[in-house]
Amino acid sequence: MPENCLTSLLETQGFRVKRLEPGFHKGQSSVVVHMERIIKGHTCGKCGQAVEQGYDSSWQEVQHLMLWHHLCFLRFERYRVNCPRCGIRTEALEFVDVRGPRVSLRLARLVAELCKVMTNKSVGLFQVMHRGTIKEIDKRAMTKVQAERPLDGITVMGADEIAVGRGQNYWTMISVPEGPRGPELLNVVEGRREKSLRKFWKWFGKDRARRVTHVVMDMWAPFRNSFKAHCPDIQIIYDKFHVIRHLLNAVNDVRKSEFKKRAGKRFRGLLAGKKFILLSRLAHVRGKSREALNDLLAASPKLLKAHLLKESFGHLWSYKSRTCARRFFRQWVDQLKWTRMKSMRQFAKRVEKHLDGILAFCDKKVSLGYVEATNLKAKNIIRRAYGFRDKAYMKLKIIQGCTPWMSQFRPWTVTHSSSS
Ligand SMILES: [Zn+2]
Repeated sequence: MPENCLTSLLETQGFRVKRLEPGFHKGQSSVVVHMERIIKGHTCGKCGQAVEQGYDSSWQEVQHLMLWHHLCFLRFERYRVNCPRCGIRTEALEFVDVRGPRVSLRLARLVAELCKVMTNKSVGLFQVMHRGTIKEIDKRAMTKVQAERPLDGITVMGADEIAVGRGQNYWTMISVPEGPRGPELLNVVEGRREKSLRKFWKWFGKDRARRVTHVVMDMWAPFRNSFKAHCPDIQIIYDKFHVIRHLLNAVNDVRKSEFKKRAGKRFRGLLAGKKFILLSRLAHVRGKSREALNDLLAASPKLLKAHLLKESFGHLWSYKSRTCARRFFRQWVDQLKWTRMKSMRQFAKRVEKHLDGILAFCDKKVSLGYVEATNLKAKNIIRRAYGFRDKAYMKLKIIQGCTPWMSQFRPWTVTHSSSS
């Protein structure tokens, strides 16, 4: 019997294929699979309690995985039950959710996987579904993963801010640069104040917070205060990536003030559009850009000085002992004497204030590549998702994209393992 074979291939537990009905849907060739119930009894969709009698029923049609090149729909009778605990509820079935878009679980899983590597628009075209439905499915899947993710065994964390949209709008990303599940992004919260982080701690759990020993972060007081308040044994590390970011900003300010002060046409021409050449590492500037840089530095002693200081500052991280690193920093600051570079001095002051935390890398090596990479990746996702408007969805997308174990594309293994 072909229907028997179909039934076992479909794996629709409790239902049998009765007949197939070819037709059309949205101008596409389609097949409706009519199914017949073979299980007796029902299960409450809320609490899982077995209920013998159905309360009432209606016909439901849900979209399923493509059958060859035909759209496929499963049609079956769905009951509501009168549960002694929950009242009247839709029954639970193994191949389709109680709520949400009208798709089978297998199709929902595939769509969620496809959304990791394709735009929602292309997934919609590929599966002949509305973009809104695709988003809804993806959001539900990610919400579930985020709610059920394991959080134990974390001792090293990272906190970083990211600009969102126009204006001074920041989100805080809290990550795990290294941990039992590899690097992962734990959560994204709106704002970068101590108050905004409170939500995160509530979600993460008090006892888990107590076990965190190290945190990698920017020199930003609200982050420091928040971690000090929630993790008693915390050692704060101000990492290279963040410190250098402030240094580059300072050098850029020198560039801007030079531009304003020296109005000469020739000099302005030299300076215009040279931001990235000036801020890139010297070893990475080659060819024409290198010539332009040399001309620029020859024309402005102040910029030359700032540039040299910028280039040498990275050495700080090559020291293995705190004493030597401290000595290096003193010498570096000495070179700022007799110069009038306000932004550079401010930077030096800031570093001075946080020096203990900066030199903490001497005792504890944390792989910093992840913090930097996460920042870049999140920026890309935000840029791509600029039209989304749904903040919760964007946050989940960032979390997924920056957590390798979540973003792994496994279109079929997931669907297979779930049935066994
Ligand atoms: Zn119930």
